[in-house]
Amino acid sequence: MRRRQIYEGKAKVLFEGPEPGTLVQYFKDDATAFNAQKKGVITGKGVLNNRISEYLMTRLESIGVPTHFVRRLNMREQLIREVEIIPLEVVVRNIAAGSLSKRLGIEEGAPLPRSIVEYYYKNDELGDPMVSEEHITSFGWANTQDIDEMLQYALRVNDFLTGLFLGVGLKLVDFKLEFGRLWDDEEMRIVLADEISPDSCRLWDVTTNEKLDKDRFRRDLGGVEEAYQEVARRLGVLPEAGPVDLQGPRLIQ
Ligand code: UDP
Repeated sequence: MRRRQIYEGKAKVLFEGPEPGTLVQYFKDDATAFNAQKKGVITGKGVLNNRISEYLMTRLESIGVPTHFVRRLNMREQLIREVEIIPLEVVVRNIAAGSLSKRLGIEEGAPLPRSIVEYYYKNDELGDPMVSEEHITSFGWANTQDIDEMLQYALRVNDFLTGLFLGVGLKLVDFKLEFGRLWDDEEMRIVLADEISPDSCRLWDVTTNEKLDKDRFRRDLGGVEEAYQEVARRLGVLPEAGPVDLQGPRLIQ
């Protein structure tokens, strides 16, 4: 069945869903970094991120964090609720890394005195600039109540995922969340959207501090595919068929 494409992003494609109010989220192997200046392919990433995000969203639902996730459809696709994306990236940090280390001169790996939440305005042309609550409310991207709700969810997600990852020997250094608005008969709800995967989280091995996330791609560290597989394996969601299926759809002659 050919589905109408709604949107194509850097790592995912959204198609019209089987019923109104639903979409199909397709996970690609494409990877970008530094505002799409660096491009590449991480073989099998789409298959693994589909599973990892399914697992994490499902676990979050079970502790009362609402998400857009409905169910996984196949190796690379999941059914989601259609939401109006709030144009913000909500970043939670536990350990200094990436842009925080760079901007503020804090050594990568330094534990933060407490978890820090930051907001970035989702705008590729501007390179996703950091914004404050003042900017968010002034420009009408979200109101104070929405911001408070996102903040509370972000902190709950952080507490829960920090423990979940520690249980499989991974430190949750930082991560990015996106939220969307969903209407249930005139009532607006904010739900977690997009994905949660090694594309959007920094995950370091507890004992060796080895990076098991997209930084391997960003910084040309090698072993990128293996890192994503290792995260999936530790979470118990590595597809049984192994690397064979990770190559994605092939043409049958
Ligand atoms: N992140 C993301 N998408 C973005 C920017 C950041 O998923 O467009 C994630 C990133 O993977 C990391 C966290 O948010 O886990 C914090 O990223 P940071 O601000 O340090 O930016 P980066 O160093 O990745 O440019």
